[in-house]
Amino acid sequence: PTVKYFCLNEMVHEIVALSEQRAKYANVVIETSLADNIPPLEASPSEMQQVFLNLVNNAIDAMDPGGGNLDISSRVEGDQVLVAISDTGCGIPKANLPRIFDPFFTTKPVGKGTGLGLSIIYGIINKMGGTISVNSAVNQGTTFTLRLPAGKVDE
Ligand code: ADP
Ligand code: MG
Repeated sequence: PTVKYFCLNEMVHEIVALSEQRAKYANVVIETSLADNIPPLEASPSEMQQVFLNLVNNAIDAMDPGGGNLDISSRVEGDQVLVAISDTGCGIPKANLPRIFDPFFTTKPVGKGTGLGLSIIYGIINKMGGTISVNSAVNQGTTFTLRLPAGKVDE
């Protein structure tokens, strides 16, 4: 896919708009808190869309049934951009944490999950020189944090 500069906050708004219907149906309230000084990022927009859609869909799945809150925040830290996607869902048991990025690892019923989402995300983020980390507590929720290198825009 073509690598281009893209605006992270714009992408987040796009993903929220795309997810609104599903979130409403699942009783999930989406909130965003986005810093206004995010530099352009060097990545394929279609791949980044895939990353965010996957994370948001996982979060909504984790809050089923009953719903909850989904928070997306962005901020600059040094020469990196941090994006956190936080849910108040079921959480990930400690025993599963080392496996969630493995291809085909899923805890979802057959037909509901392929177990490929996080492994694909891992590959995309890795390729662009970023990292993805997870913080989770069972029955409390999960936060995925992306650390992405800011684009080096030539004059
Ligand atoms: P899939 O969604 O098809 O199961 P993923 O690779 O996207 O595959 O996720 C792998 C597994 O990681 C999920 O089946 C689930 O057990 C766990 N997981 C991912 N995101 C979350 C989340 N936000 N909350 C709880 N568990 C999660
Ligand atoms: Mg998934």
